[in-house]
Formats: sequence, C-alpha cells, structure tokens
Amino acid sequence: MTTPRVSKLTTLDDWLELRSRTTVPEAMWVDGAWDQAGGRTLPLVSPRDGTVVANVASADVEDVDRAVRGARRTFEQGVWSSLEPRERGEVLLRWAELLDAHRDELALLLALEMGKPVNVGWNVELRTAINTIRWYGELVDKLYDESPRGRNGALALVTREPLGVVGAITPWNFPMTLAMFKIPAALATGNSVVVKPATQTPLSLLRAAELSAQAGLPPGALQIVTGSGSVVGAALARHPDVATLTFTGSTEVGKKLLTYAGESNAKPVSLELGGKSPNIVFPDAPDLDQAAEVAAWAVSFNSGQMCTAGSRLVVHEDIRDDFVARVVKHLEAHVIGDPLDPATTMGPLAYAGHRDDVVDEIRKGIAAGTALVMGSDEKRDDGLYVSPAVFIDVDPDSRLAQHEIFGPVLSVLTFSTEEEAIAIANNSDYGLGSAIWTADLSRAHRLSRRIEAGMVWVNCYEEGDSSVPFGGQKLSGHGADRSVHGLEKYTSLKTTWINIEGAS
Ligand code: NAP
Ligand code: MG
Repeated sequence: MTTPRVSKLTTLDDWLELRSRTTVPEAMWVDGAWDQAGGRTLPLVSPRDGTVVANVASADVEDVDRAVRGARRTFEQGVWSSLEPRERGEVLLRWAELLDAHRDELALLLALEMGKPVNVGWNVELRTAINTIRWYGELVDKLYDESPRGRNGALALVTREPLGVVGAITPWNFPMTLAMFKIPAALATGNSVVVKPATQTPLSLLRAAELSAQAGLPPGALQIVTGSGSVVGAALARHPDVATLTFTGSTEVGKKLLTYAGESNAKPVSLELGGKSPNIVFPDAPDLDQAAEVAAWAVSFNSGQMCTAGSRLVVHEDIRDDFVARVVKHLEAHVIGDPLDPATTMGPLAYAGHRDDVVDEIRKGIAAGTALVMGSDEKRDDGLYVSPAVFIDVDPDSRLAQHEIFGPVLSVLTFSTEEEAIAIANNSDYGLGSAIWTADLSRAHRLSRRIEAGMVWVNCYEEGDSSVPFGGQKLSGHGADRSVHGLEKYTSLKTTWINIEGAS
C-alpha cells in the first residue's frame, strides 16, 4: 500500500504564511491570457472572515461572445482538436502534475473562496480533481470507434467526433472537482471549452486554467469567463456557437438552461442537479457504528453543501433511538472553525445569504413542530458557521423531507418494512444518490433495483472513482459525468456506410 501524500503545511501559521505571499487571480482567462472584461468587477467576499479577497472581472454578453469565438477559432485551427489523441493525453497528464505541484496554493484558494477546510480541499477535492484529469489523460488514446458487421457488400463505420465549443456552468460547492468532471472529458475528445464558474468560486479554477497553459494547452482551448449567472451563464447557454452545454447546479437554473437552449440553437444540455438522497439503515447492517459514522459524514461533509448529501436518514424503527444517538455523537466530534486551520473538519457555509437560508430552514422545521434533537436556529456570532442539526420523526411529505437544504441538516425518517423503506426513499422529486446498509445480499440487490436514483451505495456512502458514472435521475438531472460514458455528451455519432464493389 502506498502512503497517502499529505501537505507539508501542518499548522495554521504555515497556511497564513502561504496566504501572505499568494496572489489571488482576479481577471478572466481568455485566449491563453488574463482578460479584464473592460474593467468591470464583482467583489468576492470570503466566508472565512467577511473580507473582500478579490475583485473579480465581471463579463458582459460581448465578453462571452469573444470567449466563445476564440474557442471556436482554436477548434477550427486544429491546434488542439487535430492533435493525436495521445498528444492531447500528454497535455492533460502534464496539467494534472502541475496542479498536484500547486496543491497547497489551490487548497488555499478553495478555503478563501468558499470556506473549505484546507485539509479537505487538499485531500479530497483536489485529489479527486487531479485524478479525474489523469484518468481522462490516460484514456484518450485507448478509445475505439465501431465497425458493426453489416452486410457483405458494405463496411459500416460509427465514429465519434468532437462537437466544437462546449459550454460548462459550474457551482460553488466543489469548484475544482465538479469543473474537472467536465473539462478534461470535453478536452480529451478534442473540443474547446468555455467555463462559467459560480460567482463565489472562480479563484481556484482561474489558477488551474493558467497552469493549463504551462502544460501546453493551446490558447482558446480552455476559456474561463467570470461574472453573474444571469448575464454570463445565460449568454453562454444562449450562444449559437456553443454546441453543447454541461451544467452542475440547482434544478431551478437547470430548467432555465433547457429553455435557453430551446430558444437558441437547440443545443443538448446535460444536467447534474439537486438531491435529497435517502440513506437507508436496516438492523442487520454489518457494522452499525460505522454506518452511523458514515451517516454523520454524509450530511455534514463540506458543511452539508453536497448535492449527494445523505440528508434523509431512513432508519428501521427497532434501532432508531440507538442509531440516532450514535450519529449525534459523531456529528459532535466535528471541529468547526477557520478553514485555514488544518485541524478544522467543518468550515463556514459558502456565503452569508446561503447561511441565512439554511438557518431559516431549521427555523421552519421547528415551527412545523418537528422534534430537533441536535442543533438550533440561532445564528452563531463567530462567523458563517452552522452547527449540524438533526430532526427526528420527520413526516415523509413535509418540507424537511422534500426540500434540498444544502447544509448540515439531517431529517430522520422511520420505517418498519422493506416496502415502506422503498416507498419513503422514492417519495422525492429527486433521484441522485442513495445508500442501503444491510448484510442481506438479496435485500441489497432487491432494493438497489427499485430505488429511483442514479447511484446506489451498499454499506458505504458516496463512493466511486473515475471509472463509474456520476449522475442522477428525475429532477436530479440526466447525462452523467465521469467514466467513459462521461465522454458521450461531448461527441456526436457519425455513420459512414461504404459500399464495397464486388464483395459478396
Ligand atoms: P445554482 O444557483 O444553480 O448555480 C450554478 C451555476 O449556474 C453558477 O455558476 C451560477 O452562476 C449559474 N447560474 C445561475 N443562474 C443562471 C442563469 N440564469 N443562467 C445560467 N447560469 C446561471 O447552484 P448553486 O447555488 O451554485 O449550487 C447549489 C446547487 O447545485 C444545489 O442544488 C446542488 O444540489 C447542486 N449541485 C449538484 C451537483 C450534482 O452533481 N448533481 C453537484 C453540486 C451541486 P452564479 O454563481 O453567478 O449565480
Ligand atoms: Mg445559486
């Protein structure tokens, strides 16, 4: 077994020292250079301490058009799209190495922009982001087209071709990982990509884009346009030269993007949206304490700002009290504090408005008469922190069971039969993640077939790697990221049918 790499920065002082000598990127990245977008800016307020850490370029519709045209030009020139797949793979691998070499700096930027604890950024977010780039870099020259065995007198070829310019719109909760679920797959297949990161979190991605140039990615192949979703995101989604749009974010915005696509060039839109994932625990779970520890993690990791959060704990009535007590114990073990402190396991919420929304949802739950066994609806006065909250006896039809809160708020629901567990699990507009804890193999298979979700984890939560698709069903979206299937949305199928004269 290899020992996992860790940052050499082990104290708050180490990270503060890095902060003191780090320049935060503020301009957009267009055609391989920094771009001020006409000098308009938006302040980026760090959730860490409420200070403005950057004044980030704020693009308008013309800036988006310029970035898309540059991306299209690069595509047509063939400086990226016509490289040998292996050469594209080598650039992606070099990029992964450079990101790895700058992991401290990138973890710092994640902590500043959205409050992610440096250790979580370093060990989880960046590890996944870098591994995804490597995986696609290694895959790209090992893909095959198809030649179906048709008729004797003909040769059929089914080939996959890049689309041109891919538009990507990403959220703030995993600024690097979720962008890298899209960018390397789109680049590997020869496309140019224009990314619009969330307003709160452009910093890590801008620095990553700068490093892509050092890795040898030609100007225009990766453009980062910054600014508001309603202007920049909408302009990208409506642009006639954007061939496809890939989105991760809320269901509400996802629906708008489908409309923009319909109003412009009918581009395909793939959507990774919200969730309200059920975590179902049977009394025969192989290790109930481990299940409880993971259940606590599933709702509090990244301060609960996780699309796959296990926000509905669906637990058998016989073990409910004991299990919830164990979950609470694990939640209490969190070290809540400064994201620059390596000891911190839970940072602030990403911005003040979101903190207010999460606290308001706790307040609504209490007002509805639901029992709260941990947490409170009081705003903390030491920052944008929200301590984990746990509601029990949650009505499956109530707001607490249906609405995605996107914070560390757990709704506990109880069942007695397997049928009831499935009914509760599927009683949701969403269908992203789900988990089943049981030692009964047949039960695990029975349930996994019937659960309406893109991902089912058995005796674990939120597991996976680059080889398996990540995506949802129902209002959680369609068109998964990761794996070889993640490439499909960035290519179009072409059939070539060749008549072979004289063959029989
Ligand atoms: P969001 O409000 O939908 O924003 C996502 C992105 O869309 C941001 O870049 C945003 O820009 C942009 N945007 C907003 N309005 C737009 C418009 N009218 N046209 C085009 N783009 C627009 O989501 P969020 O608040 O950042 O993230 C939380 C949501 O993301 C949750 O629902 C969560 O479940 C979901 N999520 C899903 C997954 C998944 O893989 N399924 C992963 C993570 C998060 P601005 O920042 O400028 O508003
Ligand atoms: Mg938003």
